[in-house]
Amino acid sequence: ERNEREAILSSMVEGVLALDSRERLIRCNQAAARLLGIDLGRAEGRTLQELVRSADLHRMVAAVLAAHEPRAGEVVLRGEKERVVYVHGTVLRGTPDRDGGALLVLHDVTELKKLERMRRDFAANVSHELRTPVTSIKGFVETLLEGAMHEPVQLERFLRIVASQTDRLNAIIEDLLLLSRIEQEAERAEIVLSPARVRDVLEAAVEVCGPKAAQRQIRVELDCDPGLQAPLSAPLLEQAVINLVDNAVQHSAAEQTVRVEALRTEDEVVIRVRDHGCGISPDHLPRIFERFYRVDAARSRKLGGTGLGLAIVKHIAQAHGGYAAVQSAVGQGSTFSIHLPDPRPGA
Ligand code: ADP
Repeated sequence: ERNEREAILSSMVEGVLALDSRERLIRCNQAAARLLGIDLGRAEGRTLQELVRSADLHRMVAAVLAAHEPRAGEVVLRGEKERVVYVHGTVLRGTPDRDGGALLVLHDVTELKKLERMRRDFAANVSHELRTPVTSIKGFVETLLEGAMHEPVQLERFLRIVASQTDRLNAIIEDLLLLSRIEQEAERAEIVLSPARVRDVLEAAVEVCGPKAAQRQIRVELDCDPGLQAPLSAPLLEQAVINLVDNAVQHSAAEQTVRVEALRTEDEVVIRVRDHGCGISPDHLPRIFERFYRVDAARSRKLGGTGLGLAIVKHIAQAHGGYAAVQSAVGQGSTFSIHLPDPRPGA
């Protein structure tokens, strides 16, 4: 019976900790020892105070023991890595040879907390991004109503600003909707990948970016074996490549070349978009695929960017079971790549 109890306790993901009425350790499973940083070999008989440095946890245990009532709450453990733990403390009934005590069950909620924070940050970012154009539209409309509408030159100028800010709002909303659609469809495994020619996708994307490239006198080269196939969602992958080529064109100087290529490596099909533009400094690279992350926010907004282009690329790559990556050096240019797993048997 004892062995069975041990096996159950040590298999649990939750940490379990039993203390006597003087807060001395009676029992502790591996999960709890790991979470609280307790050395099991030397823990028996020692008090919680001696074993764990956490005022919040001690307070909770004292409350359970004093009131003989359950308590629950979050406790932050500041060890090597900070962890947030949800602790449920209940009264441990006494036995003939031992007083009662407290039983603690610990759930590690660090990751959950991180996700919650990301969601909160995202909501704050979205609101901020939407507020900028709305504030501008409101300002110009009010100025027009206060009399500027009777002066034809101002009327046209302000209306053009209102129109461009409306386009901006629209672009942000379109990108947000696209992102959430990709996420939802990927979650429900609704994205259909079917074997298709990679070159067709690249050609379509390059064509879409043609006018902007021409306007900026940038040549877009394409290099891809027509025989190269991969399971893909053509509309999504095309969108991802458009975003990369658009960025490459945007960050290149006039008369530079942007190169789009795809090739098969040992176990992947890799699509690369290379420019010789301004490049990105190493401190920005780790966060470059995050939503709304920009190196130069003012410049990005002026150029009509939403700050979501690369987040969309990342999600599309992931929806294909792959990933997106970047290599860049300031002043030399950037190479963004989409890596698709190659399902060829034995490949
Ligand atoms: P944006 O709408 O601002 O272009 P993205 O998500 O597409 O948003 O890109 C995020 C940021 O990454 C951009 O604001 C820019 O600072 C940087 N960036 C993206 N592509 C390139 C590139 N090819 N060269 C240099 N910087 C780039």
